[in-house]
Amino acid sequence: MNYTDRVTRVEPSATLAVSSLAAELTAEGVDVVDLSVGEPDFETPEHIKAAGRDAITRGETHYSPSKGIPELREAIAEDLAAQGMPYGPENVMVTPGAKQALFEVVHTVVEDGDEVVLLDPAWVSYAAMAEIAGADLTRVDLRETDFQLEPALDALEAAVSSDTELLIVNSPNNPSGAVYSRAAMEGVRDLAVKYDITVIADEIYEQIRYAGEHVSLATLDGMGERTVTVNGFSKAYAMTGWRLGYFAAPEGLIEQAGKIQSHSVSSAATFVQHAGLQALEGPSEPTAEMVEAFEDRRDMLIEAFAEHGIDVPTPEGAFYMMLPVDDDDEAWCTAALEEAHVATVPGSAFGAPGYARLSYAADETRLRDGVDRLAEAGFLD
Ligand code: PMP
Repeated sequence: MNYTDRVTRVEPSATLAVSSLAAELTAEGVDVVDLSVGEPDFETPEHIKAAGRDAITRGETHYSPSKGIPELREAIAEDLAAQGMPYGPENVMVTPGAKQALFEVVHTVVEDGDEVVLLDPAWVSYAAMAEIAGADLTRVDLRETDFQLEPALDALEAAVSSDTELLIVNSPNNPSGAVYSRAAMEGVRDLAVKYDITVIADEIYEQIRYAGEHVSLATLDGMGERTVTVNGFSKAYAMTGWRLGYFAAPEGLIEQAGKIQSHSVSSAATFVQHAGLQALEGPSEPTAEMVEAFEDRRDMLIEAFAEHGIDVPTPEGAFYMMLPVDDDDEAWCTAALEEAHVATVPGSAFGAPGYARLSYAADETRLRDGVDRLAEAGFLD
């Protein structure tokens, strides 16, 4: 069989690859401390589960309008408008996961040969999605600036031009945990307006923050008409397996991307959308409790690494941190898994070699155990 160039030019997801290797070792009876996971270790809150169950019982088991059930599109638009973003229900498309939202948007705005700019470290799937769409990638390295964007705005300006079609900005960031400052976002705005660039603001970790102000690009003057705001339910509501996300954008983009959605996945699952509505409208305490737990674990890890003389840039959001390791981070991660039985993801998968991404969506005892194992096996020397 022949495979298209479009698909053979990309690699499978590195994060999923590590997870499968860890799962294989576990199946062989090895006790692996898995710090590679990209999902909260909390249950979906009970009121959301109940809303999903009730929706099934009520018979919400048929096709949904492709762009989402009206009440969810309205609730999302209200939520975004309350944060100062210029969106109504007509600007919202509900998708099966934020990943599908990103995929549709990239395929709607990127033509073969178009330039797409990423800020490294960047979540693994951005590059793959852009490459499948035929993009030429330009990557701006934020390693030298402790993963912060503000001090790297000159580098960003040097990277973009009027040939740039799309810039993807993710704050709070996976994998670094950085939260970009208002000045950084205003810098992005100035460049996007100057060079007429479409910007995807991936805000999926927006509610998982410990410090810093979250600035949505779509709230800044001149950005409403060129920003696509992507968000989802996976992280803030521990709903990864439900597959529910969305994007908000000018109506023209919704109409065009709507063709991809209607000719592929049709819609997000109907009863899942009803559960999502409850996530937005129900009590917010479960999210707050989860964020508090993540913050405690973050502090514990930063301190534990400091005890070994390792200075880890302090994440202000999401539930990941970037541990500085050997130049050959892939070899380090493989050895850490095989010898210390600690699973992490090589920074090079995110365009940031020399680091390993650790997820602290694991309980505190396991995290401590992970650090001890790494130390005992000589990985923190
Ligand atoms: N964006 C980022 C930055 C992510 O980390 C993830 C999940 N790992 C997603 C988007 C996609 O999330 P989902 O498809 O589960 O909504």
